[in-house]
Amino acid sequence: MRCYKRARAGRPPVDKELDRYAQPDGHGQYGILDDDGQTVLCHECGRRYRSLGAHVFRAHGTTADEYKAAHGLARSRGLASSALREALAARSAQQVGTPAWKRFEAARDPQAAADARTFPPSPAEARRAQVETATLNSRRARRPVVRTCPECGVQWCPLPGGYTRTTCRAPECVRAHAAEATRARARRQEEAIRPLTDDERESLRRLTGSDLMALVRRLLDEGMRQRTLAGAAGISEAGLSRFLSGHRVPGTDRSRPAPTATI
Ligand SMILES: [Zn+2]
Ligand SMILES: [Zn+2]
Ligand SMILES: [Zn+2]
Repeated sequence: MRCYKRARAGRPPVDKELDRYAQPDGHGQYGILDDDGQTVLCHECGRRYRSLGAHVFRAHGTTADEYKAAHGLARSRGLASSALREALAARSAQQVGTPAWKRFEAARDPQAAADARTFPPSPAEARRAQVETATLNSRRARRPVVRTCPECGVQWCPLPGGYTRTTCRAPECVRAHAAEATRARARRQEEAIRPLTDDERESLRRLTGSDLMALVRRLLDEGMRQRTLAGAAGISEAGLSRFLSGHRVPGTDRSRPAPTATI
């Protein structure tokens, strides 16, 4: 690994993660998931949730792994509050005596609960512990910051000005990660737009001619997608295009199923 070459060349290992640890990062601190027991703080928006996994995807278009990577949290660490984790662990404890059950039991005693709440260290925490150990031991005890490819698990040591991607260099990993980012972006875009109201849905189904035209144009102006509106109106997207360009007027009896009824 490159870090060992650096060590042999007498250069220090990369301490970017360490430098950022506990520094202000969005609404929180880098490398730290602020867990008050009941809720955890979202670095992105400063709101508190019982768990961030679904929230960061819905609200910020970021997968849990991307969120953890961006804020210096260990990939193995969950994004749920300790209360939720314990509740889930208790629920999954099939029988008394399993580790999850013991944690649930321990949760009745505050100190034991604190112990049960111990998470695997974040990369930054782990790095800090490594540096402390290394200071006590010899220089050779120093270990590098290692990055892990979220797609394949390959590890490497990032260097300043070197390869800074989230994934390893394997084309499949780069492609898979880009595809995920694209999906997340599309999702974010969908969610930036409010859903249709029941009244609008009903009107899209019932109206025709200039009334329908006016409503569709207004909703398109609001940023809604033609596909969504066509689905709600019970016509095809192509049909809606023809209507908008003045080539076709949908009848009042439209029975096409609405594929985007959940939007
Ligand atoms: Zn290395
Ligand atoms: Zn948020
Ligand atoms: Zn990879």
